[in-house]
Amino acid sequence: MPPVVHNFNAGPSILPKEVFQEASESILNFNGTGLSILEIGHRTSLFQEVMDEAISLVKELMQLDADREVLFLHGGASTQFFQVPMNLLNDNEIAAYTDTGVWSTKAIKEAKHYGHVEVVCSSKDDGFLHLPKGFTVPKTAKYLHITTNNTIYGTQWQDLSPFYKTGVPLVADMSSDILSRSLDFNQFDLIYAGAQKNVGAAGVTLVVVNKNILGKVDRAIPTMLDYRNHIANGSMLNTPPVFAVYLCMLTLRWLKKVGGVTAIEKINDQKASLLYQTIDALPVFKTRVAREDRSKMNVCFVIDDPNLEKEFLETCKREGMVGVKGHRSSGGFRVSLYNALPLQSVEAITNLMKDFAQKKA
Ligand SMILES: *Cc1c(COP(=O)(O)O)cnc(C)c1O
Repeated sequence: MPPVVHNFNAGPSILPKEVFQEASESILNFNGTGLSILEIGHRTSLFQEVMDEAISLVKELMQLDADREVLFLHGGASTQFFQVPMNLLNDNEIAAYTDTGVWSTKAIKEAKHYGHVEVVCSSKDDGFLHLPKGFTVPKTAKYLHITTNNTIYGTQWQDLSPFYKTGVPLVADMSSDILSRSLDFNQFDLIYAGAQKNVGAAGVTLVVVNKNILGKVDRAIPTMLDYRNHIANGSMLNTPPVFAVYLCMLTLRWLKKVGGVTAIEKINDQKASLLYQTIDALPVFKTRVAREDRSKMNVCFVIDDPNLEKEFLETCKREGMVGVKGHRSSGGFRVSLYNALPLQSVEAITNLMKDFAQKKA
């Protein structure tokens, strides 16, 4: 028997046990065919069914309108940092960006290769520990780019409605909170997410795009980077990451089975409130993140005394709590509460925190 662990990794991260079970059976014998999922052609009906189901589950779970296209692409969310402006922005045009952390800073850097970037708000000055309030998007902007959840600093826009009313297309990096809460996904013209946090395994990026915003730039776009070619080819312009798409399909099936986005949101809310309540109640732990911007996916907190910090990490390790150490750029602790993490794991770590606080009091 493997040891009992609680997996709080930030990404790649926990997936449902039953997904691993089914995926491992499919490596040896996919759907009773005697073939491995890893050795079937992507143009076979066997795989076509996987791709079709994955796409239709995304449409169903996100309740997408008919003009939204679903793609499973290579290259990670980081490729979307440049693929988005390449497809949407001319050299002489402006794109508006919110600057709320490491990932949005990277997105801004890449967009500058393709046109003018106007940073409409930033929380860089306080180390990205809050989300900036108030911004003005130039009327001429081709789109507004936001990062819905800032994985490294543990901030998350709780009210996205101001972004829905700017009059320009809305683009969102949702890598670390996609399908974790109910949103009106049709308010977004382009959504992208590396699958490895809430949707599946590493190796594939989910893109949802409003096809009406495409085809408006002058530049020549390489075949593999033009969204329209992927749409025209049913997300199979070349060999897709077959196994990674299959894992997404299984994870999306699981999400549908547990009741979809609204059901998982309730559990995610419970997990986040239990953890934040524990942090707030115990003087030894602190979170520096502004209360109204606290992320329900990545909870960042600290202990001021470096010796105690080290001791807490060692205690976590001993008790099978994995992935509690904060990102190398922000330190402290980060506990990720993605969809597949059960409430029991949060109960386990909060109990451990209470014990630790009592012993150190
Ligand atoms: C993890 C992450 C990325 C990077 O994803 P890759 O798939 O590794 O390129 C980008 N944005 C956010 C918000 C992330 O959490």
